[in-house]
Amino acid sequence: MCKRYPCRPLPREVAKMPPEVRARLMSQSEGQGMGGVPHLQTGTRGFEGEEAPDFGVFWGLIERPQRCTFLTAEGKCELHGVCKPYEGRVADCRSKHDKDPLPNLKRAWRGKVGRKVLADWKEEQDKRKQQERRQ
Ligand code: SF4
Repeated sequence: MCKRYPCRPLPREVAKMPPEVRARLMSQSEGQGMGGVPHLQTGTRGFEGEEAPDFGVFWGLIERPQRCTFLTAEGKCELHGVCKPYEGRVADCRSKHDKDPLPNLKRAWRGKVGRKVLADWKEEQDKRKQQERRQ
């Protein structure tokens, strides 16, 4: 993870993130990743606030890791101790969690709250981009 595939938050975590962090997430549409369940994840560099590329093709063409935008040059997570997403926390070797995070993530993003958080995020990013274009 981190260098090769950004981690995924639970929907309720996204709602609590500051707008500047939300703006650096990336959406995965239906059929992509996580068993095809649409969701948000931390962004790959260059795709912050955007729909994720098709990672299979992207990987093959560009031949570079899908590095997380929050991973610093020193190998630290910018969100550590602030609002590190659920999957990133579970993957932390010092974590007390011992479960596979995917079932919880899938269940949460499939649900009503997950779908609303995703729709709200897309609306928020569209507004932000419109504002940026006006400036
Ligand atoms: S947010 Fe942090 S833990 Fe998650 S992939 Fe990025 S650098 Fe890793």
